[in-house]
Amino acid sequence: MNRSEEETRARLGAVAQALHRAYVHEQALGTLLSAVEGDPLDMLILAMLSQATSDRHAQVAFSRLRARFPAWAQVLDASTEQIQDAIAFAGLGAQKARRIKEVLELLAGRGVLGLGWLRGYARGEAMAFLTGLPGVGPKTAACVLLFGFGHPAFPVDTHVARLCRRLGVAGPRERAGRIQERLERLVDPAQARRLHLTLIHHGRRVCRARRPACARCALASICAMGQESSGPAGKTTAPSGGERPT
Ligand code: SF4
Repeated sequence: MNRSEEETRARLGAVAQALHRAYVHEQALGTLLSAVEGDPLDMLILAMLSQATSDRHAQVAFSRLRARFPAWAQVLDASTEQIQDAIAFAGLGAQKARRIKEVLELLAGRGVLGLGWLRGYARGEAMAFLTGLPGVGPKTAACVLLFGFGHPAFPVDTHVARLCRRLGVAGPRERAGRIQERLERLVDPAQARRLHLTLIHHGRRVCRARRPACARCALASICAMGQESSGPAGKTTAPSGGERPT
């Protein structure tokens, strides 16, 4: 590990500690931390539904899908139009329905309509299998590994990417896939799940895409952009830039 990576690792550790201190007593985050985990195939379908929409819309679509088809075998037997109708709330219904059906057909073709058998695989092998499925990229696969298997993967969504760029642990225009690789290499595995969720929480509440609240941010003393945005007299101004779509 070179010096710059050591510094990034130290900064990530400091970020994890500061966010833990900031939110340790917050009930909403506690609920989130205890709620986000489950059967790996459930996590995969939920992550596929969450592509290009909010977590809330994905959750509603997932609940409607499970209410209509309580077993994945029933989803497999359903028509694409029936699946599309059930998941419409998440948007891109036709595309997502087609991919969900393709994934289930592939798994059924292997003889098991589930992903539990991946548990014994090394993380790299499990990642390779998952990203080989239709419509499954590194972020979706990392969600399955982290929340379905408890592997220290690090999905990088738009909030995580924005924070990493502003904090100075990623380049200002660095792509989400590269950021994910770095975080998976440098974040303490024991901290991955909590840090992932607290970064998202912080990105929604404080370090928003527009008008981040640097003046009340628990990361202000660590953050590259937050320090840049403080004037010489300590006056905080809104940071700009550092944003690109993931
Ligand atoms: S100091 Fe500002 S830019 Fe940095 S993490 Fe906090 S809110 Fe975001």
